[in-house]
Amino acid sequence: CGIYGVIGVADAANFVALGLHALQHRGQEAGGIVCHHPDHGFNNARRFGYVRDNFTDQNLMATLPGPLAIGHVRYSTAGGKAPVIRDVQPFFGEFSMGGAAVAHNGNITNADALRRELIERGSIFQSNSDSECIIHLMARSLQKTIPDRMEDALRRVEGAFSVVAMTRTKLIGVRDPLGVRPLVLGQIGDGWVLSSETCALDIIGARYVREVEPGEMVVITDQGVESRRPFRKQPSRFCIFEHVYFSRPDSIIGGRSVYETRRQIGIELAKESPVDADLVCPVPDSGTPAAIGFSHESGIPYAMGIIRNQYMGRTFIEPTEQIRNMGVRLKLNVNRALIEGKRVILVDDSVVRGTTSRKIKEMILDAGAKEVHFRIASPPTAWPCFYGVDTPEREKLLAATMSEEEMRDHLQVDSLRFISLDGLYRAVGEAEGRNAKCPQYCDACFSGEYPVAPSDQIEKGFTL
Ligand code: 5GP
Ligand code: SF4
Ligand code: MG
Repeated sequence: CGIYGVIGVADAANFVALGLHALQHRGQEAGGIVCHHPDHGFNNARRFGYVRDNFTDQNLMATLPGPLAIGHVRYSTAGGKAPVIRDVQPFFGEFSMGGAAVAHNGNITNADALRRELIERGSIFQSNSDSECIIHLMARSLQKTIPDRMEDALRRVEGAFSVVAMTRTKLIGVRDPLGVRPLVLGQIGDGWVLSSETCALDIIGARYVREVEPGEMVVITDQGVESRRPFRKQPSRFCIFEHVYFSRPDSIIGGRSVYETRRQIGIELAKESPVDADLVCPVPDSGTPAAIGFSHESGIPYAMGIIRNQYMGRTFIEPTEQIRNMGVRLKLNVNRALIEGKRVILVDDSVVRGTTSRKIKEMILDAGAKEVHFRIASPPTAWPCFYGVDTPEREKLLAATMSEEEMRDHLQVDSLRFISLDGLYRAVGEAEGRNAKCPQYCDACFSGEYPVAPSDQIEKGFTL
């Protein structure tokens, strides 16, 4: 998901709409905005579909006045799979000291247990979303201010969370102690911005200030930014898959260009798994920077052997398998004139279920390619993510049940190689590779080492 908040500008909701539009790649199912105006109080709008199809309507935007607003773009990782509008964030609650709205990116790994406990004690849940727990925990806190109540609530929550929240006068940002999901702070004129990624600061002309740090809470008012530390300090574990796939390539994470990291992954891949061929082609768009790096390192020409229809969204964000299966042909087509008679290296970011990869391979062979070699910019995805990226259950992951050679056979390609975990760490700037004792990132979907025990899942029978 993507989260965004603005304080201290006229008609903040318009800025939030633009920010959410730049974060659309993080969630395409739905979007929502909550805002506050001193005379008009809190207002909100929640809609299915793209930001640009909803939050450009001037009649709608006129109902969202005020200098303070937050927003959320959603793709369903938790909660019911059938999209319902009451699952669309931000969530809102009235407390004795006033209202507050909360938008959450990540996944609360003890949400089922918390929900059960809260319902037993009288909470009335409105949605299926794990994120709603935060509001109910805040309601039960005895603290006197909303930021203090949020601290209380978030200390009971396990898992991955970046949160943007607001009261009548405050914009609040928090990252979980491991800092699994991103959150950055920016400035626009006298106002302040919180955003999942820097690309959404650029769109409104805001200046990047810094990242909200893992385990940090920032409370922003017209007096400026107050920094708090609600959690016990731990070594951080940022999601390494944000670098590989999830973030936009024009964003900066931890001082590193995401594009440059992906290009480096391609360079590492070419060093680790070279192959003689005529062309290096990305599976667009997610494989593009790695393919550029692979071509650069190998000296094999880069070519757009697969063309993407720009009017389709990201396949993996389509929630049902049937739509996803159709999606490949609706979205990608082979550039036949270029491919015919060639030995082709295809570079993609990941192999998850293998359905996309298999269809692409068929299309490439239909177009007359002589050989097809897959090079993958992440290690085999053998474990589900429980921290906010929508991987399917373990049985559906190709790498959970097959060796690399079995996957090659299943995909019926001439060769298939994944970047090593150490190679990936080198590409994100860790010259020594992965620190096995204390890994610098979360890489659970590749390694099976979960930095936070997924307790709800374990209760449901998931075994590590
Ligand atoms: P597959 O071949 O595993 O079906 O799909 C791999 C391709 O689709 C990659 O390009 C990746 O970007 C995207 N993809 C499809 N499904 C998922 C998913 O559930 N999670 C992730 N992370 N990527 C996916
Ligand atoms: Fe990121 Fe994978 Fe960890 Fe999920 S399991 S947070 S996708 S690295
Ligand atoms: Mg892709």
